[in-house]
Amino acid sequence: MILNDPPPSGGVAPRALLSVVVPCFDEEAVIGETHRRLAATLEAVPGLDFELVYVDDGSRDATLNLLRELQRADARVRVLALSRNFGHEIAVTAGLKCAAGDAVVLIDADLQDPPEVIPEMLERWRRGADVAYGLRTERDGETRFKRWTASAFYRVINRLADISIPLDTGGFRLMDRKVVDAFLAMPERDRFARAMVAWTGFRQEPVPYRRAARTAGETKYPFGKMLRLAIDGIVSFSLAPLRLATWLGFLASGLALAGIAYVLVLRLLTAAWVSGWASLLVAVLFLGGVQLICLGILGAYLGRIYGEVKRRPLYLVKERLGFSLTGGRAMREEPADE
Ligand code: UDP
Ligand code: MG
Repeated sequence: MILNDPPPSGGVAPRALLSVVVPCFDEEAVIGETHRRLAATLEAVPGLDFELVYVDDGSRDATLNLLRELQRADARVRVLALSRNFGHEIAVTAGLKCAAGDAVVLIDADLQDPPEVIPEMLERWRRGADVAYGLRTERDGETRFKRWTASAFYRVINRLADISIPLDTGGFRLMDRKVVDAFLAMPERDRFARAMVAWTGFRQEPVPYRRAARTAGETKYPFGKMLRLAIDGIVSFSLAPLRLATWLGFLASGLALAGIAYVLVLRLLTAAWVSGWASLLVAVLFLGGVQLICLGILGAYLGRIYGEVKRRPLYLVKERLGFSLTGGRAMREEPADE
Protein backbone atom coordinates (compact mmCIF):
# COMPACT_ATOMS: atom_id res chain seq x y z
CA MET A 1 0.00 0.00 0.00
CA ILE A 2 1.33 3.40 -0.91
CA LEU A 3 0.25 6.38 1.08
CA ASN A 4 0.68 9.96 0.14
CA ASP A 5 1.96 12.36 2.77
CA PRO A 6 -0.78 13.23 5.21
CA PRO A 7 -2.60 16.42 4.19
CA PRO A 8 -1.29 19.56 5.88
CA SER A 9 -4.39 19.82 8.03
CA GLY A 10 -2.95 16.86 9.93
CA GLY A 11 -5.50 14.39 8.68
CA VAL A 12 -4.20 10.99 7.71
CA ALA A 13 -5.15 8.87 4.77
CA PRO A 14 -7.07 5.75 5.77
CA ARG A 15 -5.00 2.77 6.89
CA ALA A 16 -1.82 4.44 7.88
CA LEU A 17 1.20 2.25 8.53
CA LEU A 18 2.73 2.47 11.98
CA SER A 19 6.16 1.07 12.78
CA VAL A 20 7.08 0.31 16.36
CA VAL A 21 10.82 0.12 16.99
CA VAL A 22 11.84 -1.90 20.03
CA PRO A 23 15.53 -2.07 20.99
CA CYS A 24 16.26 -5.29 22.91
CA PHE A 25 19.36 -6.14 24.86
CA ASP A 26 19.15 -9.22 27.06
CA GLU A 27 15.40 -9.02 27.37
CA GLU A 28 14.50 -12.74 27.25
CA ALA A 29 12.45 -12.37 30.42
CA VAL A 30 10.00 -9.85 29.02
CA ILE A 31 10.10 -9.91 25.25
CA GLY A 32 7.20 -12.36 24.80
CA GLU A 33 4.95 -10.35 27.05
CA THR A 34 6.03 -7.11 25.38
CA HIS A 35 5.11 -8.49 21.99
CA ARG A 36 1.76 -9.76 23.22
CA ARG A 37 0.82 -6.41 24.72
CA LEU A 38 2.05 -4.39 21.75
CA ALA A 39 0.15 -6.53 19.26
CA ALA A 40 -3.04 -6.57 21.34
CA THR A 41 -2.97 -2.80 21.78
CA LEU A 42 -2.32 -2.01 18.14
CA GLU A 43 -4.86 -4.51 16.79
CA ALA A 44 -7.52 -2.63 18.71
CA VAL A 45 -6.81 0.62 16.85
CA PRO A 46 -9.17 0.94 13.87
CA GLY A 47 -7.74 1.79 10.45
CA LEU A 48 -4.15 1.00 11.33
CA ASP A 49 -1.61 -1.33 9.77
CA PHE A 50 1.46 -1.88 11.84
CA GLU A 51 4.83 -3.58 11.85
CA LEU A 52 6.95 -4.35 14.89
CA VAL A 53 10.66 -3.81 14.33
CA TYR A 54 12.68 -5.57 17.02
CA VAL A 55 16.34 -4.66 17.08
CA ASP A 56 18.48 -7.21 18.87
CA ASP A 57 21.42 -5.24 20.16
CA GLY A 58 23.84 -8.16 20.53
CA SER A 59 21.97 -9.88 23.34
CA ARG A 60 23.90 -12.60 25.15
CA ASP A 61 20.82 -14.50 26.22
CA ALA A 62 17.98 -16.16 24.32
CA THR A 63 16.43 -12.89 23.15
CA LEU A 64 17.34 -13.38 19.49
CA ASN A 65 15.94 -16.93 19.44
CA LEU A 66 12.72 -15.70 20.97
CA LEU A 67 12.53 -12.94 18.37
CA ARG A 68 13.04 -15.45 15.57
CA GLU A 69 10.15 -17.48 16.95
CA LEU A 70 7.95 -14.41 17.15
CA GLN A 71 8.80 -13.61 13.56
CA ARG A 72 7.90 -17.09 12.37
CA ALA A 73 4.52 -16.85 14.04
CA ASP A 74 3.66 -13.28 13.08
CA ALA A 75 4.35 -11.73 9.66
CA ARG A 76 4.12 -8.22 11.12
CA VAL A 77 7.32 -8.83 13.05
CA ARG A 78 10.66 -7.72 11.65
CA VAL A 79 13.89 -8.65 13.37
CA LEU A 80 17.13 -6.79 12.89
CA ALA A 81 20.03 -8.39 14.71
CA LEU A 82 23.15 -6.28 15.15
CA SER A 83 26.54 -7.98 15.07
CA ARG A 84 27.31 -7.04 18.69
CA ASN A 85 26.12 -4.69 21.40
CA PHE A 86 26.23 -1.16 20.02
CA GLY A 87 24.22 0.54 22.73
CA HIS A 88 20.66 1.71 23.01
CA GLU A 89 20.91 4.89 20.93
CA ILE A 90 22.55 3.13 18.00
CA ALA A 91 20.06 0.26 18.17
CA VAL A 92 17.27 2.81 17.95
CA THR A 93 18.88 4.42 14.90
CA ALA A 94 19.25 1.03 13.21
CA GLY A 95 15.58 0.30 13.85
CA LEU A 96 14.44 3.68 12.55
CA LYS A 97 16.40 3.17 9.39
CA CYS A 98 14.47 -0.02 8.64
CA ALA A 99 11.07 1.25 9.72
CA ALA A 100 8.68 1.82 6.84
CA GLY A 101 5.82 3.49 8.70
CA ASP A 102 4.13 6.84 8.12
CA ALA A 103 4.73 7.23 11.82
CA VAL A 104 7.19 5.43 14.06
CA VAL A 105 6.94 4.74 17.77
CA LEU A 106 10.06 4.15 19.86
CA ILE A 107 9.46 2.05 22.92
CA ASP A 108 11.68 0.15 25.37
CA ALA A 109 11.37 -3.61 25.51
CA ASP A 110 11.04 -3.75 29.28
CA LEU A 111 7.41 -2.54 29.45
CA GLN A 112 8.39 0.48 31.52
CA ASP A 113 6.69 2.48 28.82
CA PRO A 114 3.19 1.01 28.65
CA PRO A 115 2.16 0.13 25.04
CA GLU A 116 -1.36 1.16 25.98
CA VAL A 117 -0.28 4.81 25.66
CA ILE A 118 0.44 4.40 21.93
CA PRO A 119 -3.20 4.86 20.79
CA GLU A 120 -3.22 8.25 22.48
CA MET A 121 -0.01 9.20 20.72
CA LEU A 122 -1.62 8.12 17.45
CA GLU A 123 -4.58 10.31 18.21
CA ARG A 124 -2.30 13.33 18.66
CA TRP A 125 -0.56 12.48 15.42
CA ARG A 126 -3.87 12.25 13.59
CA ARG A 127 -4.72 15.68 14.95
CA GLY A 128 -1.52 17.11 13.49
CA ALA A 129 1.30 16.61 15.99
CA ASP A 130 4.61 15.62 14.41
CA VAL A 131 6.07 14.28 17.62
CA ALA A 132 4.07 12.93 20.55
CA TYR A 133 6.46 12.29 23.40
CA GLY A 134 5.74 10.42 26.58
CA LEU A 135 5.88 12.63 29.64
CA ARG A 136 6.45 10.67 32.83
CA THR A 137 4.18 11.72 35.61
CA GLU A 138 5.31 9.10 38.10
CA ARG A 139 8.07 6.58 38.12
CA ASP A 140 7.54 3.39 40.01
CA GLY A 141 10.45 1.26 41.07
CA GLU A 142 13.22 3.70 40.32
CA THR A 143 15.54 4.77 43.06
CA ARG A 144 15.38 8.31 44.34
CA PHE A 145 18.99 8.66 43.21
CA LYS A 146 18.11 7.80 39.60
CA ARG A 147 15.20 10.20 39.64
CA TRP A 148 17.32 12.95 41.09
CA THR A 149 20.19 12.47 38.65
CA ALA A 150 17.75 12.38 35.73
CA SER A 151 16.14 15.68 36.69
CA ALA A 152 19.49 17.32 37.42
CA PHE A 153 20.68 16.20 33.99
CA TYR A 154 17.76 17.81 32.17
CA ARG A 155 18.29 21.02 34.04
CA VAL A 156 21.98 21.12 33.15
CA ILE A 157 21.56 20.26 29.48
CA ASN A 158 18.74 22.74 28.98
CA ARG A 159 20.85 25.49 30.46
CA LEU A 160 23.99 24.64 28.53
CA ALA A 161 22.68 23.40 25.22
CA ASP A 162 21.06 25.44 22.52
CA ILE A 163 17.92 23.31 22.54
CA SER A 164 15.32 22.53 25.12
CA ILE A 165 14.49 18.98 26.01
CA PRO A 166 11.31 18.72 28.04
CA LEU A 167 11.91 17.55 31.59
CA ASP A 168 10.92 13.97 32.42
CA THR A 169 10.82 12.60 28.93
CA GLY A 170 12.61 9.44 27.89
CA GLY A 171 12.89 7.66 24.61
CA PHE A 172 9.20 6.76 24.44
CA ARG A 173 7.68 8.78 21.59
CA LEU A 174 5.85 8.76 18.30
CA MET A 175 7.44 10.53 15.35
CA ASP A 176 5.97 11.48 12.01
CA ARG A 177 7.80 10.28 8.90
CA LYS A 178 9.30 13.71 8.26
CA VAL A 179 10.82 13.78 11.75
CA VAL A 180 12.22 10.27 11.28
CA ASP A 181 13.78 11.32 7.98
CA ALA A 182 15.26 14.41 9.60
CA PHE A 183 16.65 12.28 12.41
CA LEU A 184 18.20 9.81 9.98
CA ALA A 185 19.73 12.66 8.00
CA MET A 186 21.86 13.53 11.01
CA PRO A 187 25.09 11.65 10.50
CA GLU A 188 26.70 12.05 13.92
CA ARG A 189 27.98 9.08 15.86
CA ASP A 190 27.24 10.32 19.36
CA ARG A 191 23.55 9.90 19.04
CA PHE A 192 21.36 11.23 21.73
CA ALA A 193 17.94 10.62 20.31
CA ARG A 194 15.77 12.74 22.56
CA ALA A 195 17.95 15.80 22.10
CA MET A 196 18.19 15.25 18.35
CA VAL A 197 14.42 14.94 18.06
CA ALA A 198 13.95 18.09 20.15
CA TRP A 199 16.39 19.83 17.81
CA THR A 200 14.32 19.03 14.71
CA GLY A 201 11.53 21.34 15.85
CA PHE A 202 8.13 20.68 14.23
CA ARG A 203 5.06 20.34 16.38
CA GLN A 204 5.88 18.37 19.51
CA GLU A 205 3.24 17.48 22.07
CA PRO A 206 3.48 15.73 25.44
CA VAL A 207 1.40 12.68 26.30
CA PRO A 208 1.44 12.13 30.07
CA TYR A 209 1.82 8.57 31.30
CA ARG A 210 2.85 6.67 34.36
CA ARG A 211 6.24 5.05 34.03
CA ALA A 212 6.04 1.56 35.46
CA ALA A 213 8.76 -0.43 37.11
CA ARG A 214 10.67 -2.86 34.93
CA THR A 215 8.60 -6.05 34.86
CA ALA A 216 11.67 -8.28 34.70
CA GLY A 217 15.37 -8.20 34.01
CA GLU A 218 17.50 -5.34 35.18
CA THR A 219 18.45 -1.90 33.97
CA LYS A 220 21.29 -1.70 31.48
CA TYR A 221 21.88 1.89 32.40
CA PRO A 222 24.01 1.88 35.52
CA PHE A 223 25.30 5.21 36.77
CA GLY A 224 28.49 5.20 34.69
CA LYS A 225 26.60 4.75 31.43
CA MET A 226 24.09 7.44 32.43
CA LEU A 227 26.95 9.83 33.05
CA ARG A 228 28.45 9.06 29.64
CA LEU A 229 25.10 9.66 28.01
CA ALA A 230 24.81 12.96 29.86
CA ILE A 231 28.26 14.08 28.75
CA ASP A 232 27.48 12.99 25.17
CA GLY A 233 24.32 15.04 25.28
CA ILE A 234 26.06 18.14 26.54
CA VAL A 235 29.14 17.94 24.33
CA SER A 236 27.18 17.27 21.15
CA PHE A 237 24.66 20.02 21.72
CA SER A 238 26.60 22.75 23.46
CA LEU A 239 29.85 24.66 23.11
CA ALA A 240 29.47 26.12 26.60
CA PRO A 241 32.19 23.90 28.15
CA LEU A 242 34.67 25.26 25.59
CA ARG A 243 33.87 28.78 26.73
CA LEU A 244 34.59 27.71 30.29
CA ALA A 245 38.31 27.89 29.51
CA THR A 246 38.02 31.57 28.70
CA TRP A 247 36.08 32.32 31.85
CA LEU A 248 38.47 30.37 34.04
CA GLY A 249 41.33 32.27 32.38
CA PHE A 250 39.73 35.60 33.24
CA LEU A 251 39.11 34.41 36.78
CA ALA A 252 42.70 33.26 37.27
CA SER A 253 44.19 36.46 35.78
CA GLY A 254 41.81 38.55 37.90
CA LEU A 255 42.99 36.80 41.03
CA ALA A 256 46.61 37.24 39.95
CA LEU A 257 46.12 40.97 39.26
CA ALA A 258 44.54 41.48 42.66
CA GLY A 259 47.46 39.61 44.23
CA ILE A 260 50.02 41.77 42.38
CA ALA A 261 48.28 44.96 43.48
CA TYR A 262 48.17 43.74 47.06
CA VAL A 263 51.87 42.83 47.12
CA LEU A 264 52.93 46.12 45.51
CA VAL A 265 50.82 48.28 47.78
CA LEU A 266 52.14 46.47 50.82
CA ARG A 267 55.75 46.87 49.68
CA LEU A 268 55.51 50.56 48.62
CA LEU A 269 53.40 51.93 51.43
CA THR A 270 54.41 49.93 54.44
CA ALA A 271 57.86 48.57 53.67
CA ALA A 272 56.59 45.10 54.61
CA TRP A 273 56.46 42.29 52.11
CA VAL A 274 54.60 39.06 51.66
CA SER A 275 56.85 36.15 52.38
CA GLY A 276 56.71 32.40 52.00
CA TRP A 277 56.39 29.68 49.47
CA ALA A 278 52.88 28.71 50.39
CA SER A 279 51.20 31.46 48.38
CA LEU A 280 53.39 30.68 45.39
CA LEU A 281 52.59 27.00 45.58
CA VAL A 282 48.87 27.63 45.86
CA ALA A 283 48.93 29.88 42.79
CA VAL A 284 50.88 27.34 40.76
CA LEU A 285 48.57 24.49 41.75
CA PHE A 286 45.49 26.56 40.99
CA LEU A 287 46.71 27.49 37.54
CA GLY A 288 47.84 23.95 36.84
CA GLY A 289 44.41 22.66 37.78
CA VAL A 290 42.62 25.15 35.58
CA GLN A 291 44.82 24.27 32.64
CA LEU A 292 44.25 20.55 33.08
CA ILE A 293 40.48 21.03 33.24
CA CYS A 294 40.56 23.02 30.03
CA LEU A 295 42.76 20.44 28.33
CA GLY A 296 40.31 17.77 29.39
CA ILE A 297 37.42 19.70 27.86
CA LEU A 298 39.36 20.23 24.63
CA GLY A 299 40.12 16.52 24.67
CA ALA A 300 36.44 15.63 24.98
CA TYR A 301 35.61 17.60 21.84
CA LEU A 302 38.73 16.48 20.00
CA GLY A 303 37.97 12.83 20.75
CA ARG A 304 34.52 13.24 19.31
CA ILE A 305 35.88 14.92 16.18
CA TYR A 306 38.27 11.98 15.81
CA GLY A 307 35.37 9.56 16.11
CA GLU A 308 33.40 11.46 13.48
CA VAL A 309 36.18 11.76 10.92
CA LYS A 310 36.87 8.04 10.97
CA ARG A 311 33.45 7.63 9.36
CA ARG A 312 32.99 4.05 10.44
CA PRO A 313 29.54 2.60 9.96
CA LEU A 314 27.36 3.23 13.00
CA TYR A 315 26.50 -0.44 13.35
CA LEU A 316 26.76 -3.77 11.57
CA VAL A 317 23.85 -6.08 10.91
CA LYS A 318 24.19 -9.84 11.17
CA GLU A 319 20.66 -10.92 10.44
CA ARG A 320 17.44 -9.46 9.06
CA LEU A 321 14.16 -11.32 9.25
CA GLY A 322 10.82 -10.24 7.88
CA PHE A 323 12.21 -7.41 5.74
CA SER A 324 12.36 -7.45 2.02
CA LEU A 325 15.92 -7.15 0.73
CA THR A 326 15.34 -3.62 -0.51
CA GLY A 327 14.56 -2.56 3.05
CA GLY A 328 13.32 0.81 4.15
CA ARG A 329 10.26 2.45 2.65
CA ALA A 330 10.15 0.26 -0.41
CA MET A 331 9.37 -2.84 1.56
CA ARG A 332 5.78 -1.92 2.22
CA GLU A 333 5.12 -3.10 -1.33
CA GLU A 334 6.39 -6.57 -0.54
CA PRO A 335 4.75 -9.40 1.33
CA ALA A 336 6.27 -9.52 4.77
CA ASP A 337 8.42 -12.58 4.39
CA GLU A 338 11.80 -13.33 3.05
N1 UDP B 1 19.08 -1.48 25.36
C1 UDP B 1 19.76 -1.75 24.17
N2 UDP B 1 21.13 -1.75 24.17
C2 UDP B 1 21.87 -1.48 25.30
C3 UDP B 1 21.16 -1.18 26.49
C4 UDP B 1 19.78 -1.18 26.48
O1 UDP B 1 19.15 -1.97 23.14
O2 UDP B 1 23.10 -1.52 25.23
C5 UDP B 1 17.60 -1.47 25.36
C6 UDP B 1 16.97 -2.32 26.44
O3 UDP B 1 16.75 -3.64 26.00
C7 UDP B 1 15.66 -1.60 26.69
C8 UDP B 1 16.02 -0.14 26.41
O4 UDP B 1 17.20 -0.16 25.62
O5 UDP B 1 14.67 -1.99 25.78
C9 UDP B 1 16.22 0.66 27.67
O6 UDP B 1 17.17 0.04 28.50
P1 UDP B 1 16.99 -0.08 30.08
O7 UDP B 1 15.59 -0.48 30.40
O8 UDP B 1 18.06 -0.99 30.59
O9 UDP B 1 17.25 1.41 30.54
P2 UDP B 1 16.46 2.23 31.68
O10 UDP B 1 15.00 2.05 31.42
O11 UDP B 1 16.88 1.65 32.96
O12 UDP B 1 16.91 3.64 31.48
MG1 MG C 1 14.06 0.38 31.32
